[in-house]
Amino acid sequence: MGVTHITSVEWATLEGHRPRSAGCNARLGVHGGITRVPIVRVTDSDGMQGVGASWAKGEKAQRILGMELNQLFLSDQGVAEAWLDFDYPLWDLHCKRTGQPVYVAAAQITGRTPITSLSAPCYDTSLYIDDLEQTTDEAASQLMADEVRQGLARGHRAFKVKIGRGARHMPLAAGTARDIAVIRAVRETTGSQATLMLDANNGYNLNLAKDVLDATHDCDIFWLEEPFHEDGELYRDLKGWMVKRGLRTLIADGEGEASTRLLEWAHQGLVGAIQYDILGHGFTRWLRTGRQLDAWEVLSAPHHYGNGYGNYAACHLAAAIKHFAAVEWDETDIPGLSAPGYSIENGRCNVPPHAGFGIELDDDLFQHAVRSTGGRLSLGGNT
Ligand SMILES: [Mg+2]
Repeated sequence: MGVTHITSVEWATLEGHRPRSAGCNARLGVHGGITRVPIVRVTDSDGMQGVGASWAKGEKAQRILGMELNQLFLSDQGVAEAWLDFDYPLWDLHCKRTGQPVYVAAAQITGRTPITSLSAPCYDTSLYIDDLEQTTDEAASQLMADEVRQGLARGHRAFKVKIGRGARHMPLAAGTARDIAVIRAVRETTGSQATLMLDANNGYNLNLAKDVLDATHDCDIFWLEEPFHEDGELYRDLKGWMVKRGLRTLIADGEGEASTRLLEWAHQGLVGAIQYDILGHGFTRWLRTGRQLDAWEVLSAPHHYGNGYGNYAACHLAAAIKHFAAVEWDETDIPGLSAPGYSIENGRCNVPPHAGFGIELDDDLFQHAVRSTGGRLSLGGNT
């Protein structure tokens, strides 16, 4: 057959391990040390393969069999709308076929000057509410400061701290006081050059947000993420108060079930960083969103947590989006999946110039995972 088409699809869930168990956030309990990484591998009629995170399986996998590549991937926009379930594997396949890193093809689509080498800014997102068993704020602060030192040793120079202890896990006043103590301890440990962000997972209200920002006004907080559920009226109040108070802290929001009005509030200058999920929103949609946010000078800050794959994939957006904030780095070792050449150094992730995303599967381990957690469909006979 002349036109290159998809001949097989394999899917599996790999299990990753964090170096340290992640505790609570403002609304959820312990997140733990295990991550789950849904991986799809597509093979085409030339024997080329694309690998990437995807939840596609079963009927969706069946549907893509026999599809011609030029209907799946459009060089001026990325993966075609109807095939976004396969966004990452198809980006990988297209770029392997054309012999270029994803970041080069992505930059062409958004009209940025393609670069030959990439290092993407990233931040350590591992500072969860890990101190609930500590009986004093001082002990809690020491524990969190130690976690910051672990991140610094890994090469991180930007950190995000979970706050909102008083929303659920501690009495309100005691939890808020501990939030403030921990923020101050973290800033003391990072030094003044590092970037420091806060994430309340909607566990504050307007006045709590002001109280905590006031009490940490000298800590140079880069962004406050999800202070409360998205609300244009309350954002406007908070933003106005910050301006009066001389605080340049941005409001960041957009992970999970984001308000349909979020971009409108970003356009109005209320929300300074948009955080749609790297997998849920996907790479192709992020290129479109990023171009729009660039025009408004709003930061693109993809949310990523709990799969590990997004650490690597999100880096590639940095070449295509001018106001790309940073990769949310959830340190995870994934047996069966390697990313040779990616390394964190001085707050940035060096990205290797390999074709595609540069992600490699160990075939034995992946096949084992396909048998035990996934499946395989191929043209002319399923196994
Ligand atoms: Mg968050």
